Amino acid sequence: MELRAPKGTVDMLPETARAWERLSAAAQALFERYGYEPIYTPLFEHTELFARGIGEATDIVSKEMYTFEDRSGRSLTLRPEGTAGVVRAAVEHALVPHGAVAKLYYAGPMFRYERPQKGRMRQFWQIGVELLGAGEPSADAEVIALLVRYFEMLGLPRDRMRLLVNSMGDEACRPAYRDSVAAYIRAHEAALCDECRRRADTNPLRAFDCKNEGCQRVMAEAPRISEALCDDCRAHYEAVKQHLDALGIAYEEEPRLVRGLDYYTRTVFEVQAEGLGAQNAIGGGGRYDGLFSTLGGPATPGLGFALGFERTLLALKAAGIEPGAGEGVAAYIAAVDESVREAAFSLAMALRDAGVAAELDHRGRSLKAQFKHADKLGARVAVVVGPDELAAGEATVRDMVTKDERRVALADVPAHVAALIG
Ligand code: AMP
Repeated sequence: MELRAPKGTVDMLPETARAWERLSAAAQALFERYGYEPIYTPLFEHTELFARGIGEATDIVSKEMYTFEDRSGRSLTLRPEGTAGVVRAAVEHALVPHGAVAKLYYAGPMFRYERPQKGRMRQFWQIGVELLGAGEPSADAEVIALLVRYFEMLGLPRDRMRLLVNSMGDEACRPAYRDSVAAYIRAHEAALCDECRRRADTNPLRAFDCKNEGCQRVMAEAPRISEALCDDCRAHYEAVKQHLDALGIAYEEEPRLVRGLDYYTRTVFEVQAEGLGAQNAIGGGGRYDGLFSTLGGPATPGLGFALGFERTLLALKAAGIEPGAGEGVAAYIAAVDESVREAAFSLAMALRDAGVAAELDHRGRSLKAQFKHADKLGARVAVVVGPDELAAGEATVRDMVTKDERRVALADVPAHVAALIG
């Protein structure tokens, strides 16, 4: 059998791996400015956490989980998303005492057994935040603003993004709304796919997400949550929108935005971008005021978002941004012959110790081959060490851009090169 990465997974080769590291570092820098702290939770959890937290009737739990029994017969599942694990940890370690707020962020791989396509993987990488303990609408606006700001910080132009918002109601108004959508589905059964017909009994709101065009046409006329919100949910939603207006954050209201996890209450949102094909959501999230108690904790409001690395990268590339581009080596140390190789090696080490990215040849190649290598690595500066220079305690420093050359005392080479590369 040919050994390849499993279907739906990819190796992150250096350019992509570098992009991941830069996007994670950018997230860390920005999120910490908003008061978020890092958290790492296990890549696998008890299956029951997701079944209870995300909901048995969701696509994720019913069809997409990587569930296995460990050697002691426990049912474990590779995490399909980050929120359930973070909230489980917050309950387990009492991270949100009554009246307190905790702000946490995470970055790492998630696993869903989905049909792989562009922007849809079985192992994919997410960066996310959870704001726990604040039920106020300004918290929703802050989390939404943070997601938009993050994409802006990466250089994604605002006009290539759409921010969609909606309210899904809460336990007071959503049950009746779900029933009305279920009744609507049953009344239009003939025009819907088998799956949507089944959804009337299991998870009617998911019919809004069906990719089938016929279903989309029918669901476009379905009852809207905006007309079914209770007074509290309506007031909350209006206040979230007012905060977004005050912050100057443009959004579109999308009454059919329901998102695929059962735990959402009230505000949900999604950022869509161009250049991704069928999968146009690069990030999204919402409020989940019932999740703490579902997972056995004290009633605690919370909300968060998760953004997908692979789709964000596609959106950035479509906008002409290459976050994984290499920077090239700063200095290449070329040895004229074997007699000076040790001195060249020492010089490379001295440059690296001085904080300069330096490379040299270990394979005894000709000077010409070394210069070719320096070009390939994109070296800004070449430092040539030859027997004559060495006898004088010097090396030749060549600026590869201006082609300017000068002899520099060996001890001064690191400072000289550092000044050249700025
Ligand atoms: P979700 O947890 O489903 O709300 O997804 C949040 C974000 O994760 C989405 O907006 C996508 O960018 C990304 N995402 C979700 N599922 C996948 C997947 N199977 N492959 C790649 N990215 C995904």
